[in-house]
Amino acid sequence: MKDMLLIAGPCAAENEEQLWNTALQLADQLNKNDYRLSYFRAGIWKPRSNPNEFTGAGIEALPWLSEIQKKFGFKVCVEVAKPEHLDYCEQYDIKTVWVGSRTTVNPFIVEELAENSKGRGFSVMVKNPMIPDLKLWRGSIERFRKAGVENIMAVHRGVPEQNENILRNTPLWEMPVELKVQLPEIPLICDVSHIAGDKNYLGQISQIALDFGFNGLMIETHYRPEIALSDARQQITPSELTTLLQNLKVRDGIDSTDLLLLKQRNMIEHIDNQISLLLKKRMNIVDHIAQIKSDHNMPIVDPVQFNKVIERYNRNTDDDDDYREFITKYLELLHQSSIQRQRRHE
Ligand code: PEP
Ligand code: MN
Repeated sequence: MKDMLLIAGPCAAENEEQLWNTALQLADQLNKNDYRLSYFRAGIWKPRSNPNEFTGAGIEALPWLSEIQKKFGFKVCVEVAKPEHLDYCEQYDIKTVWVGSRTTVNPFIVEELAENSKGRGFSVMVKNPMIPDLKLWRGSIERFRKAGVENIMAVHRGVPEQNENILRNTPLWEMPVELKVQLPEIPLICDVSHIAGDKNYLGQISQIALDFGFNGLMIETHYRPEIALSDARQQITPSELTTLLQNLKVRDGIDSTDLLLLKQRNMIEHIDNQISLLLKKRMNIVDHIAQIKSDHNMPIVDPVQFNKVIERYNRNTDDDDDYREFITKYLELLHQSSIQRQRRHE
């Protein structure tokens, strides 16, 4: 835990009081528990999907953050998305920045940022792009490397899921694990908050990241998460952060078979989460169908429909008899449960 990179601080810089109180509590909590904060994060230019949402305090926050850097000795980092953002940061001696996932998708913008960072001593964290494209992530890192940036870190924040999902973003652990194989010298940090989307999953995701051998964690922290202007559900207090850290287990050395198993098990967990949510969704549709049938005095069991369902599933059984047998049993169960539900509407 001692050499783990720890990045904490609010999702967004809201006002001076919020930044100051959060930094003060972080300093107090972490010092008391012998943890060290590597970087204090705060988004001052927030890339929001909805233009009417809070977009961070902007340039006004730079002197506040600069003051925090001086007073607490934390290095501060902010998100940059335009070349001029780097100029503003430099004026306030903020020399660590991150490139967000909406920016990493665009090689033109990354190129401009890399160009503007040349010879200025910035440390740069590169988040994975919003689309699951390892080459694009790696390409962004390469651009900063070519520009001569010495301290580059990769931040994994998952990718949005088109299907059902319990987490805010799907971790796709195999992607950062592969990046680590390709670029072992680049520290890999897990942005636990944006993967989880909910503070209840932060501990679990942090532990998985450590088990995969990540070098650090980024966890959004706010002195009063309940009044946060962005990402309130996923932020925790500095005291909750120390409890989370205390509960983590750091393993010495990672066995390659364990790593392989961990990767596969996490993929299965993701699929299981999706199946359970999809089944719930399917049951809700069954309830609607039952209502329609009941309103129109139609029979509950429609053999034609059931045969269509069987046909649909059989298209994917690939001549595997065991799988076909499993699917048949599964469909019978599904059918029974569906009839049972519809009877409730009689
Ligand atoms: C953030 O870290 O505040 C952020 C906006 O993250 P991302 O770019 O990963 O969505
Ligand atoms: Mn956030």
